[in-house]
Amino acid sequence: MAKFHAYRNLKICTKDCLCLFVCPTGAADNETGQIDFTKCIGCGACANACPSRAITLIPNKMPSQQPHDEKVVKALFKVANTKIEQIKILKGLLQNTKEEQEQKLYKALIHANKVGIEDLMREAGYMLPESKNTHELLEELKEKTPSKKEEIIKLLEKLEVNE
Ligand code: SF4
Ligand code: SF4
Repeated sequence: MAKFHAYRNLKICTKDCLCLFVCPTGAADNETGQIDFTKCIGCGACANACPSRAITLIPNKMPSQQPHDEKVVKALFKVANTKIEQIKILKGLLQNTKEEQEQKLYKALIHANKVGIEDLMREAGYMLPESKNTHELLEELKEKTPSKKEEIIKLLEKLEVNE
């Protein structure tokens, strides 16, 4: 199996098409606009040729995550908790107003706080599919939601723990 595969960022691809000419396998020439992973051998010729730097080589096997430092984890949860507190306050405010502009503001702040928590957790490796806590959460959900048990088991089989 190739060590890398190429990924094209369609938002910055300027369609110069040099990648199509240099690719030895035809993987870069795909009707979907994305590179065909089944044909890509990870040689990097497309990434080197691309004038827009729109192609990145992604390792097929990610390195293990670094151990989580206790101090950092504490600080992380402290920040996340302040965001959760803000969401609670904002939800209360939202319930108590009928004014449209105010409602929009509270909704936007709730959304921003949720996105902030997600970003924090992801950056810290706490929401990565391969992290141990994701598996623990799925194991818990598997027991709590019998109707989804089968699907969660399938998902767990596909997610390799890499921590
Ligand atoms: S060479 Fe770069 S800019 Fe041109 S089509 Fe390929 S990815 Fe897009
Ligand atoms: S990495 Fe190599 S094989 Fe893969 S798309 Fe780019 S040029 Fe083609």
